[in-house]
Amino acid sequence: MARHTRPVPLAAVMALLPQTQCRLCGFDGCRPYAETLVAGNTDVNRCPPGGDVTRLALATLLGREARAWEGERRPAPRVLVAIDPKGCIGCARCLPACPVDAIVGAPGLLHAVVEAECTGCRLCLAPCPVDCFTIHAHEDPPHGPWPDRSQAEARRARLRAYRKARRARTPQRRPSVHADRERKRREIREALEQARRERGWQGAIRNRRIARGE
Ligand code: SF4
Ligand code: SF4
Ligand code: SF4
Repeated sequence: MARHTRPVPLAAVMALLPQTQCRLCGFDGCRPYAETLVAGNTDVNRCPPGGDVTRLALATLLGREARAWEGERRPAPRVLVAIDPKGCIGCARCLPACPVDAIVGAPGLLHAVVEAECTGCRLCLAPCPVDCFTIHAHEDPPHGPWPDRSQAEARRARLRAYRKARRARTPQRRPSVHADRERKRREIREALEQARRERGWQGAIRNRRIARGE
């Protein structure tokens, strides 16, 4: 059921969310939550990473009741995750799970978390078949406007998530396959030319022998 809500631009709501894309709100990222808030179809108390700062600011912006946190959906200290290099088998299953592309690695190689980009959302944990992620407290998280998150981090996470989503939408260009095909065509062309040249030389040698009466 739609809640009474003041009409506000989506951008204003998005600016109040810390952009971790953690899905703790129950939506598939910050934008879907913001869109549903603007439509008046959800409550303002669903973003734990934003803490009370986000909850109260959303209530003020949307002219809605600042409902208290409910159940397990409530703020918690920020964490960081790391990959145990001894355990990682390089299966790359964690890569697509990270909404902000904070994991680096390639199939068959050791993967690692880029600490500066990790929001602590833990979405990478479930896909790992060997449980080689470790979770530890973020000793020195940046502050402001959220308790342990900064505006600069939010901007970066939003951009990284946007880029990742755009990549996923764009059909994969496969330069290596294309290049491979081109290479094969070139090799065939060269082989044919070589064969033609050889046929030409053999013909010339034969003609010379005939001329000498050999
Ligand atoms: S940061 Fe908040 S709004 Fe964004 S996905 Fe997480 S819980 Fe939802
Ligand atoms: S590395 Fe894991 S915990 Fe960190 S942002 Fe990516 S998915 Fe979230
Ligand atoms: S899912 Fe686990 S084992 Fe696979 S690459 Fe990621 S960290 Fe390594």
